[in-house]
Amino acid sequence: MIDQQRTALIVVDVQNGFTPGGNLAVTAADQIIPLINQLALKFEHVVLTQDWHPQNHISFAQNHADKHAFDSIELDYGTQVLWPSHCVQGTLDADFHPNLNISHARLIIRKGTHPNIDSYSAFLEADQKTTTGLHGYLTACGIDTVYVVGIATDFCVAWTAIDAAKLGFKTFVIEDATAAIDLNGSLANAWQAMDAVGVQRVWSDNLEH
Ligand code: ZN
Repeated sequence: MIDQQRTALIVVDVQNGFTPGGNLAVTAADQIIPLINQLALKFEHVVLTQDWHPQNHISFAQNHADKHAFDSIELDYGTQVLWPSHCVQGTLDADFHPNLNISHARLIIRKGTHPNIDSYSAFLEADQKTTTGLHGYLTACGIDTVYVVGIATDFCVAWTAIDAAKLGFKTFVIEDATAAIDLNGSLANAWQAMDAVGVQRVWSDNLEH
């Protein structure tokens, strides 16, 4: 039984940019949206996240001379994968996918807004210092358990779930409601990293009603 007072569903980056036709399209990621809509009905407390970058964002390959999308570079805060420009603030690419239908969501967290810091996680930006405020918000609401779904399993979903677990939330990822990029083994690495901090991997039909 989901304790509605203490539990939130976090829906990560279900945006045009990450679905077929988008600038950083994840294969078949649109196919998880009907399941996410259905799952959301089981939760009173839903938070949506939205990747929301300025044009000059450090994660965009085009902002680095002689670099290509999917190259990696070293920054002060660690290794950064360079991406095609995506989810630029105010563009169609950054909008939620039109099939996402969670009108009862209470909060939208926009992340990756600082030009010089990427943010896969909905809690902490990639420098591991700059907070999005989500931790404070959930804590103030009395939430101690989170379920995470969305795109991409091996980047924004994983980093969000890992930070949630490290911050002390009981954390679940609903595997069939996620879609992965899987770049150079990143999916297997992400599950391993999630497992190491106690994130529980569940399937949507294991969810108690
Ligand atoms: Zn991004």
